Amino acid sequence: MKGKLIIISAPSGAGKTTIVKHLLQQNFGLEFSVSATSRKPRPGEVHGKEYYFLSESNFRKKIENNEFLEWEEVYNGIFYGTLKSEVERIWVAGKNVIFDVDVVGGSNIKKFYGNEALAVFVQPPSVDELKNRLRNRSTESEEKIKIRIAKAEKELEFAKKFDVIIVNDDLPKALIEAEKVVAGFLSGKNENDKI
Ligand code: ADP
Ligand code: 5GP
Repeated sequence: MKGKLIIISAPSGAGKTTIVKHLLQQNFGLEFSVSATSRKPRPGEVHGKEYYFLSESNFRKKIENNEFLEWEEVYNGIFYGTLKSEVERIWVAGKNVIFDVDVVGGSNIKKFYGNEALAVFVQPPSVDELKNRLRNRSTESEEKIKIRIAKAEKELEFAKKFDVIIVNDDLPKALIEAEKVVAGFLSGKNENDKI
């Protein structure tokens, strides 16, 4: 069986992981596409749950073997990518796939799957608010936050390439909007082929 695909992309700190977790709790038959990364796990992160944590050499080997649907060196020396085997694993289980990937990865997945995929861009209310959220999340050093903010400023320009933009200012409202667009897409009511 071939399921559908929901892509949630945003600059780091905009709230995509929060939205993805919420959508997974709804009754949409969604399963999270576990990405691979060469970054180190944060406290509490588990191999095979948040990510497949690979060494850089293992990651490079998989690139050479053409095992990725898309991959990127998101930060200097740190690789992230979606394994082709993830989509297969989830479809074989009879589920729809949900991706939490950065904006370039998200647009690449959308290009590949076209109408089978819904590409959602989560927009923060402002860059300053993004900084606040990353500081409050306390998962990155101040230096890493600076790198993420510099990247975010470029990423915001990608919003128009996505099927839907959700501004995540008031979280409960953003969650309801996300539920609505996903429900509409899964029931086949959305027109979405901008990319
Ligand atoms: P991302 O996955 O895009 O990096 P997260 O979902 O981890 O972002 O959210 C970044 C931080 O901001 C988290 O600590 C999260 O709890 C918080 N957050 C998410 N949405 C909002 C919101 N609307 N208002 C305030 N804080 C938020
Ligand atoms: P983090 O290290 O905060 O978990 O993620 C850093 C960035 O990498 C985020 O913007 C996240 O969306 C992105 N990312 C996570 N998985 C993938 C992936 O499979 N492909 C791409 N291109 N980016 C990813």
